[in-house]
Amino acid sequence: MRKTNARAGMQLREVSGAISQGDGAQGTSGNNEGGSVKIGEGGASSAGWHKLQSGLRCQKEFQLEHVRGIHKPQVQTPDYFAIGIGVHAGRATWFGNKFRTDTATWEKVKHAVRRDFEKQKLPVTVKAESACLSYLEQYIAYWSMRPRPTPVAIEWLIGPVPFEPDDPFFMHRTARLDDVSKYPEAGGHLCIGELKTTSGGIQDVVNEYTLHGQPLMQWTLFKRSKRGEKKFGPVKHVMLDVIKKGYGSEKCQFHRQPIPITDYSLAWYSRDLRAQLKILSGIDWNTDTPRNIAQCTRVVGRARVNCPYLDLCRWGKSAGTQYRLADGGFMNSWRPSEEQLVPPWK
Ligand code: SF4
Repeated sequence: MRKTNARAGMQLREVSGAISQGDGAQGTSGNNEGGSVKIGEGGASSAGWHKLQSGLRCQKEFQLEHVRGIHKPQVQTPDYFAIGIGVHAGRATWFGNKFRTDTATWEKVKHAVRRDFEKQKLPVTVKAESACLSYLEQYIAYWSMRPRPTPVAIEWLIGPVPFEPDDPFFMHRTARLDDVSKYPEAGGHLCIGELKTTSGGIQDVVNEYTLHGQPLMQWTLFKRSKRGEKKFGPVKHVMLDVIKKGYGSEKCQFHRQPIPITDYSLAWYSRDLRAQLKILSGIDWNTDTPRNIAQCTRVVGRARVNCPYLDLCRWGKSAGTQYRLADGGFMNSWRPSEEQLVPPWK
C-alpha cells in the first residue's frame, strides 16, 4: 500500500529510516579471497536515484507519482521488475559466497531469490522466477570461467549524505551499491559494480549509462560518505555488469564495461541536481507544476513506451477509472479537503 504524503518534500526527506543502516552503521562481514567483505541488505534505497528520476523527466509525473500517490492497479509484480530484483539478490549471494559453484551455494542463491520475491507486495509469477533462475545459472556458468572480481562490499548502502556540506537534510541522498570490488576488467582497480539487465542490446545499455544520473550519484555519494571512499579508498570507475536476457531457446549474453566518471561532469551534475532537489521539495498536492510534453513517451531499451500518466494528462478525469489514489480508492471518489484542494487529475 502506498503512503499518502501531503508534500513531495516529505518524500525527499524520507531518508531518516535509512540512517540506522546508513552512514553510521555497519553491515555484516564475510570472508573473501581478498579478505573481509562487507555485506548489506538488498532492495532500493530510501532516497536514491529512482525516487528522483521521474521528477527530472517531468515535474507533473513526480507530483502524480510521489506526492499524490496515483497509480494503475496491478494484480502481480511485473515480470521485468521481479526478474531485476531476483537477479540482483542471486548475484549478491554468489559474490558473497566466494563465487563457489557447488550445490550448497546454488541453494543459497535460489533461497535469496525467493526471499526477495516474498518481500514483494504483489505475487511474482512462476514464469518470472523460472526466467530469473535460468539467467543466474547462465551468469554463474559464464563468469565462473573468467577472472573474478574481489569484492570489499556487497549490496552496500551509503547515505544519507549531502552533495555539499551545508545542504539541508531533505537534500541528502542515498544509494545502494550492488558491489564495490576490484575488477580485472579495470586492471584490478576498485570500482562501483552496477548490475543491469536488458531485453535490448548490451551496447545500448553501455551507451545509456556512459553519461547518466545514477552512476554520477553513486560516485558523488561514495566520495562523500564515510561508508564510501573514507572506508574503502577511491574507486576508479563504475563497472557496468550487463545481462542481456535470453528468451526461449536464446541464451543470455554478458558483458562488463568500466565507465569512467569525469571531474567535469561531476562538477555540473552536483550543482544541477541540487537545484532540481530544491524545486522538487517545494511541490505539494496543490502546486501548479509544469508538464514536460517531450517526455510523454520515452525509450526503454529499444522500445518506445508511454509515461504511465499519459491517459490522465490526455483525458483528465474521464481517464480516472484506470487509476487509483494512494489509499487504493477510485480516483472519481476523490473529494476536496483542506490539504487537497486540487483534483488529482489536474
Ligand atoms: S504524460 Fe507527459 S506531461 Fe503527463 S506526467 Fe507524463 S511526461 Fe508529464
